[in-house]
Amino acid sequence: EPILTVRGVSKTYKNGPTALKSVDLTVERGEIVALLGPNGAGKTTLISIICGIVTPSSGSITVAGHDALGDYKAARRAIGLVPQELSTDQFESVLATVTFSRRLFGRSADGGHVEQVLRDLSLWEKRHAKIKDLSGGMKRRVLIAKALAHEPELLFLDEPTAGVDVSLRRDMWNLVHRLRENGTTIILTTHYIEEAEEMADRVGVISSGELLLVEEKAALMAKL
Ligand code: ADP
Ligand code: ADP
Repeated sequence: EPILTVRGVSKTYKNGPTALKSVDLTVERGEIVALLGPNGAGKTTLISIICGIVTPSSGSITVAGHDALGDYKAARRAIGLVPQELSTDQFESVLATVTFSRRLFGRSADGGHVEQVLRDLSLWEKRHAKIKDLSGGMKRRVLIAKALAHEPELLFLDEPTAGVDVSLRRDMWNLVHRLRENGTTIILTTHYIEEAEEMADRVGVISSGELLLVEEKAALMAKL
């Protein structure tokens, strides 16, 4: 069964625009899918709905076999989300923040996973630092570590390289490759065609709330 199915999902914000118009999307386990579209196209809205942060106006969603709109908690446990903005308690240490994130999604015994994630993101040396004292780039790394702490099956990266320096880009790229080898499914949003092409197996193009097509990247690039 697919890790994600989205059927007829629409969203009209209160006093706002229709951000999504009957979106259908199926993602198989282990795929890397890029959602490509300009600012305002509806990418963040779609991710936020799948992650249970925003309620859709209509439609249905399953994540790892769970009804994401009904059994939200079970669906959410399968998901890791790397948002664009940092919303962490700034006064906690890196290690406490990432460990808490793991427990939040129902995993306690660690087995060295949190340490591994922190090492992969070059955060281990900074594990006792308070988030507020970190550089912007280091804060972005904490966001990624938080999302990976509970070993999600489906990882969302919202504009992963926006405002990110070269060394974090390289670490992120290596991480994406290693996660895929472990079978993690990854969905990222971007407004750069090059990023979609380099990182993804398939690309979905979103424009004005409509998911226009989802194709193998080679087929798509020939069309654009
Ligand atoms: P993208 O991530 O592709 O830039 P968004 O999903 O953020 O697009 O936005 C899609 C549309 O919905 C935009 O017109 C945006 O202004 C609008 N929008 C996003 N969030 C809200 C909100 N909370 N309330 C009202 N309108 C919103
Ligand atoms: P190498 O291991 O050869 O030094 P990298 O691991 O940094 O190279 O990157 C491998 C490939 O991925 C290169 O083609 C590089 O341009 C591309 N790449 C690296 N980071 C990103 C990124 N954030 N988005 C898209 N492509 C990237």
